[in-house]
Amino acid sequence: MDFDWSPAEIAFREEVRAFIAEELTEDVAGSIFIDTPARIEFVTKMADRGWLGMGFPEEYGGSATPVPLAPFILNAELDRAGAPIIGKNVGTIASTIYHVASEEMKKDFLPKIFRNEGQWAITYTEPNAGTDLGSMQCRAVDKGDHFEVSGMKHFITSAHFCRWHWMALRTDPDAPKHKGISIFIVDHDTPGLSLSRMDTLGREGTTHRTNQVFFDKMKIPRSRLVGEQNKGFYYMMQALDYERFAILSFASRVRRFDNIVGWFRRADLNGERPAQDPHTRRSLARMAARVEVGTMLERLAICRAQEAVPDVEASMNKVWGASIGDEFAQLALDLLGPLGGLWGGEHSPFDGALADEYLMAGHARVAAGGVDTSKSIVARRLLGLPNALGKPELPQR
Ligand SMILES: Cc1cc2nc3c(=O)[nH]c(=O)nc-3n(C[C@H](O)[C@H](O)[C@H](O)COP(=O)(O)OP(=O)(O)OC[C@H]3O[C@@H](n4cnc5c(N)ncnc54)[C@H](O)[C@@H]3O)c2cc1C
Repeated sequence: MDFDWSPAEIAFREEVRAFIAEELTEDVAGSIFIDTPARIEFVTKMADRGWLGMGFPEEYGGSATPVPLAPFILNAELDRAGAPIIGKNVGTIASTIYHVASEEMKKDFLPKIFRNEGQWAITYTEPNAGTDLGSMQCRAVDKGDHFEVSGMKHFITSAHFCRWHWMALRTDPDAPKHKGISIFIVDHDTPGLSLSRMDTLGREGTTHRTNQVFFDKMKIPRSRLVGEQNKGFYYMMQALDYERFAILSFASRVRRFDNIVGWFRRADLNGERPAQDPHTRRSLARMAARVEVGTMLERLAICRAQEAVPDVEASMNKVWGASIGDEFAQLALDLLGPLGGLWGGEHSPFDGALADEYLMAGHARVAAGGVDTSKSIVARRLLGLPNALGKPELPQR
């Protein structure tokens, strides 16, 4: 496999970098979310260039892609720059709509996504159904022309600024747990839907704010059922394989590592140059190799995604990416002592970014398909180890 970018891919990457250099103002940078007027405008400018619908057919509002990997190059460059990313709306939701939804739904929603006409919340998690999404209980009762929902979800990140929910609900309580879930598109202003704020660790602009979402006899029209009824679990799993590398690319880790190295190059602590310390140099060199492995693993998953659902590669990428986040935090504390933990102020290296990384490391381990479940996927599907019930699975490759 050739890991180098082709001249056409490099040319597109340069075009994206020029766009970011021109358009990424201070009020846009610093968050991956499309949650403020300035960030919405920034993403709409990309939509105007046809960058959100790259590779999707024109009849759904898509546009030609300059190179097959252009959407991933774009997402990675945005992430590297600390700009709002397109991975969730395009990589997860539009891809699933395109592959499984009705013609009517594709024509309705894909152009809206590609024009950046509204934001999405992914609304899956319940108090007793996080990693084990198959255990979700919140029911959508089939009433013929609509479904009725009462219950709640929690940890829903973008619910306070979204227009639509990409929502998983139980539609058959009697079926085996993975076979009774369906996906719906729900307008956020549907009567019967309400929110309450749910804060987690981290600063504003990170995933600091999530939400509890409540439903009281909320009605969802049947036309908003995505794909086939009771196939939702499979759609979620497929989307997660993309999420494991589409939502948070590895590029932001590369940026943070570059910042760390840049800081050490310049640092002078009361006449001492930490960059000359052998332990510091060895630690940074070791981390440089690990960062490069992460970049390569991500590229492997992206290339695999051109041919098939990249389940194993995306899982390896997820495990590595989340672990590196932990390691950055440890590295900062190891090399910088108390300075590494500072969250702001003039002595805080990297404007507290490593303290952010430390606080968010736990989230990265469980979000978007989780490290533990990703290890399970690699164990079963690549290595052919038995699953938790002792049932052997043949390796797929
Ligand atoms: C900041 C933040 C934002 C979030 N945003 C969203 C969102 O927008 N939408 C949404 O739907 N959800 C969201 N979540 C929820 C997130 O996806 C869940 O927290 C995650 O799925 C874990 O679920 P849980 O918290 O119930 O923990 P649990 O599922 O109880 O897991 C606890 C621990 O046990 C491990 N574990 C569980 N099952 C297994 C297993 N079978 N094998 C090995 N290890 C296992 C897990 O890896 C984890 O370490 C968010 C969470 C956070 C913290």
